[in-house]
Order: sequence, then structure tokens, then C-alpha cells
Amino acid sequence: TARRHCQLGQLVRRLQPLILEQAAEKKVRVEFIIDGDIPHVVGDEELLSHVIIQLVENALDAMEVDGQLTVRVCRENHVVRLDVRDTGPGIPYYHMDQVFDAFFTTKEKGTGLGLPICQKIVADHGGEIHVSSKGFGTTFSVLLPAAESAS
Ligand code: ADP
Ligand code: MG
Repeated sequence: TARRHCQLGQLVRRLQPLILEQAAEKKVRVEFIIDGDIPHVVGDEELLSHVIIQLVENALDAMEVDGQLTVRVCRENHVVRLDVRDTGPGIPYYHMDQVFDAFFTTKEKGTGLGLPICQKIVADHGGEIHVSSKGFGTTFSVLLPAAESAS
């Protein structure tokens, strides 16, 4: 796979039409927050795009009409952070430990492979993926080391 310097803000902008189209089908509003000054990361754009799309798909699956999806890219010192946030019902605490397990799904036609694959991709990039959900809404956060600090 092709590893090169890529910029998550640009990547999200490139995926924006696709994300908007998917969200429009569900009448979900979308907000993009892309900070200026986002450092590059070293990574495979196709794999990282896959992660973003998977997280967006899960967020949309979780929401009813009139939900709100927020995709945010920001910098935290030497880390680039991508947040995908939804206004769905959240993840019950008793499932929190399982959502990254292979084949764990609560969907009738789910595979339970979306998140474990995302986690693997992010780990292969030296990063972390976290979930936070407290009763209402869910945020998945991808943290990747900025290229400067990765060398
Ligand atoms: P799948 O989408 O095929 O079910 P995933 O690995 O992508 O598999 O997700 C596993 C499970 O995690 C989902 O079935 C769902 O129960 C839960 N989940 C993931 N994302 C969200 C979300 N944004 N809101 C609520 N639950 C979620
Ligand atoms: Mg999924």
C-alpha cells in the first residue's frame, strides 16, 4: 500500500460530496469543521478514506431523520484528530467494550467488521481510535501522529 504524506483536512474535503450525498438520503444535516494548520500524517489515503467512510456510515446508521453529523479535523500538538460525531441514541455501556470486536453487530444486516478493520488500519498508522458515548450521541475519534513527530 502507498504510504505518503497526506493531510486529513484535504482528505475529508475530497470525501465531502460523498458524505453529503449519503447524509442527504437520510435527511441528516452535516457540519464539517476543518481547522487551518493541520499537519500532514504519513499514511495510505485509500485506507484512511475507508476509515472515515466507515465511521460516517455507522453514524448515519445510528440516526433518524433530522440527525446531525459532525466531521471535525483538528490538531492537538503533535497529533491530528478526526472526530465523527452523531446525534443518535448512543452506545449502551454494556456494549462499549465490544464495538471493536470482530463480528460484533447490533444490525440485522451488519457484518461487525467495520470498526475492527478501522482499528487495525489506524493502529497500522501508529494511531489510536476511541469511542465516547454518554447516553446521547456518539463520537469516534481517530488520533494519528503528525508527520513531523513520526520521523
Ligand atoms: P456493523 O456496522 O456491520 O454493525 P461495525 O463494526 O461498524 O459493524 O459496528 C459494530 C457495532 O457498533 C454496530 O453494530 C453498532 O452496534 C455499534 N456502533 C458503531 N457505531 C455506532 C454509532 N455511531 N452509534 C451507535 N452504535 C454504533
Ligand atoms: Mg459499520
